[in-house]
Order: sequence, then C-alpha cells, then structure tokens
Amino acid sequence: MPVSLYDTLTRSISEIRPEDGKTLGFYCCGPTVYGPSHIGNLRTFLLQDVFRRTVELSGLSVKHVRNLTDVDDKTIRESRAKSVPLKEFTRGWTERFHRDSAALNMLPPHFEPAATDHIKQQIELIRCLIDRGHAYASESGSVYFRVSSFGNYGKLSRLKEREITTDREGPAGGEPIDADEYERDSGADFALWKAHKEEDGDVCWESPWGPGRPGWHLECSAMSMAYLGQTFDLHGGGVDLVFPHHENEIAQSEACTCKPFARHWFHCAHLTVEGSKMSKSLGNLYTLDDIQARGHGPMAVRYVLISAHYRQQLNFTMDTLHAAESALKRLRAKADALMETAGIDRDAFYDAGTIMKHAGEDAGAFQPAWEQLTRDLNTPAALGEAFRALGDLAKNPGAPGVAGKQAWGFAKIVRALGLDLHRDREAARPEAPEEIRKLAEARWQAKRDKDFARADALRDQLKEAGWRILDRKDGYELEAL
Ligand SMILES: [Zn+2]
Repeated sequence: MPVSLYDTLTRSISEIRPEDGKTLGFYCCGPTVYGPSHIGNLRTFLLQDVFRRTVELSGLSVKHVRNLTDVDDKTIRESRAKSVPLKEFTRGWTERFHRDSAALNMLPPHFEPAATDHIKQQIELIRCLIDRGHAYASESGSVYFRVSSFGNYGKLSRLKEREITTDREGPAGGEPIDADEYERDSGADFALWKAHKEEDGDVCWESPWGPGRPGWHLECSAMSMAYLGQTFDLHGGGVDLVFPHHENEIAQSEACTCKPFARHWFHCAHLTVEGSKMSKSLGNLYTLDDIQARGHGPMAVRYVLISAHYRQQLNFTMDTLHAAESALKRLRAKADALMETAGIDRDAFYDAGTIMKHAGEDAGAFQPAWEQLTRDLNTPAALGEAFRALGDLAKNPGAPGVAGKQAWGFAKIVRALGLDLHRDREAARPEAPEEIRKLAEARWQAKRDKDFARADALRDQLKEAGWRILDRKDGYELEAL
C-alpha cells in the first residue's frame, strides 16, 4: 500500500515513493546539541520515526539520515559560557539526546553525521557557489549567498506570495545576515561562511577565504547530499524550519547542482503546553527528564506526542499524560489477550523481524488503522481505529482460525506507532526518600483523623521539600516537583 504525506512544496498530499523504487532517502534536521531537547523537538523526531516505521512496514527500505548540529551560534555561546571545549560540550548533549531517543523507543537513524566532521564538504559547496556566481566573499572573510541570483528563492515558504521581494541588483532587505536564525521574512543574503570573531574563541577552521566556521544552513545541504545524493526523496523538520533554514538549503543546493534538491518536504507542527507557547520565561520548556521526574514513563510521553496529527498543533498537558497511561494499560491488556488467543508469545509479538514477515498480509480488523497511517500519517485516526477494532474483537472474536491474523494485524500497528507496551510498567518511578514518605504517611493519617490544619501544614512542608501529594480514591501518590 503506498504511503502519502502532505508535501509542503506542492501544498498537497503526495504519494511518497523512492525514486529508485526500493529505498527511500530520508533526511531529517537533527538536534542542535547545546542543551536537552524539549518535547516540541522530540515530537518532530517521533513523528518522523512513526513515518519511517510505516514506510518500512509497507515493504520499502528507508535510508534515514539525521544530522547533529554541533557548531552554530548557540553551541559556541553556551560552551564558552561554561568554559568547556566545544567538542566536549556537544558530546555530552549528544549522549543525552541518544538516551532520550532510546527511552522514547526511536529507531536510530542509519547515519548521524555531525557538522564539524564535514567541514571539507561544506567548503567545497561554498567554492561551487562562488564559481557559479551565487556567492561572494566579503572583505571581512565571510561568504554570503546572493539571494537575488537564485530565481526560485522562496518556493518552499512561498516568500514571494507574501509580497516580499528581493532586490535583483544586490543584497536585498539591507545588510547581509550573519545570524544562523532569523525570523522575519527576509530576502537578504545569508552567511555560508562566517569569518572568525573574537567571541568564537578557538572554534575555527581554515578556508580559502580565511579562518572561520560554516553557517548553520550550509551543513544540511552538504551532509544530505553527501549521504543521499544531489536529489533525494524526502526532507523533514519542524515547521519553524521552513523559513529560513529549508529555503536556504534549497537555494544553496540547487544553485550548485542545477538539479532538484529534496523531492518532497515533510513538516511537523508546533506544540503548546497547557495552552501556552513553550518558552523559557514561562518555565514550560519540558524535557523528558522533567516529565519522568513527575512520575510519568517515556511511553506515555511518546503516546501523547504522536496522538495528534503531525500537521496539527498539539496541546500537551499533564492530564493528557494520565489519559495516555490508561490507554497504554488498555492496549497492553488487549495485546496480551490477543496473543493468548492466537498462541503467540510476547517476544515474537514485539520482534521486528517476525512482524515484518507478516507485514505484507492483510491486517484483519486492524486494516483500517493501517490505512490511516499510510494516508498522510494520521496517527490519531489510527489509534481510534485500533481501539475500535479491539472493542469489536472483544465482543465478537470471530472464528478461531483468524486469531493469528488479528494478532499480527495489531502487532503491525503497535510496531508502526513504536509503542513498547511494557516499558513504562517496568521503568522505576522516582522513589521518595524515607523522611518524605513518613511525612506523607503522617499527612494521610491527619486527613483520616479529620485534623485538616495539620494535614495542610504537612502538605506545605512536603511542598517545600520538593514533593507534591496527590490524593487518590483509596490513597495518595507522591510526585517530585
Ligand atoms: Zn537542517
């Protein structure tokens, strides 16, 4: 069954098939390793992971490349502020990213190139752009892309439709832009190579234009083409990358190769937390660790983050985590029941190789769920269809001979969504220290004795010590703040 996605380039749903008929070349903009990933970044990576799994289960191979941005304005600034060499600083955050990705059951990409390991390819690309008249070196030793030289600039973000025009005679929109990230819709020339500045410290490479470092946009052009060829099938990222990052990637690549860059573009929407935009000042820039410290497992986080359609903004709340936990519990119980009826053991049910052997078969009652995944990656509808099928099967299990088909159909959906239904149950919750448990016990006793003043005082004492007490019907839970 073909798999489709909404292609940002054409603004329409397109069938995503590999040009060579076998292996889909899939490039994703990876993390900037200067701090922990927040759940907004993680959501994009998770949806890319579900997409890759879906393509693989549809019978195709995927060559998944996701880069590491280990040199840019932010990594340099933060490593210098902590007086740690850049390489050492980014290595620590890369490890943290790998740990989070594994906890969330993401398949590792086949290639994970780091920008600092591909300086040579980036310099070559700049050289090509200068030779072709698309870039120029400034007196300071920086090199800029001449936006006015590339007639298709703006085709992805529809920059021109928004009535922002480039000045055909020279750098448009005023001065060339040095910053890696800029928000306004600017037709201004952007930096490919940044001449060394004092605030860069020892972060510096030699180049034909003098010492400096590559601009952020350049690395994705250089690395995607190095691993996937000049034209490849699919490029993904968060919607915030459409402009300028992806627009600039297209310009740099196509101006040099005169060939189409990515054939399709796949963008994931933003996320809000408790109805607000995530920001440092609001204190809602949650990481996986923050959520785990509140007692929620990584699979509940995965479930929430994939439970809205990738083109829809997701509102992340603590309530959605509670709902995800009970949904996972139900799925686990249903999976166990299906396995028992079909006589399939748990290891086989979750084994990728075994599932792949059955993946080409009709998914039985789960076929509608599968179709939702293949049709523009509709994860919420797939989950809805899976629950509907489980409900139907509970009422009417059908002939004994079809139990295996139903179980493998369900295993395929669970595999595509990347849900490890046993992980959270087995993951240890943070254990409260003994004095905290004693305080909580004393508060519970005070409540039962109807000594509410004492109960409140003990609750405040717990809060001061960094623990919240949550009353349940027949007891309480402790949650780290
Ligand atoms: Zn990128």
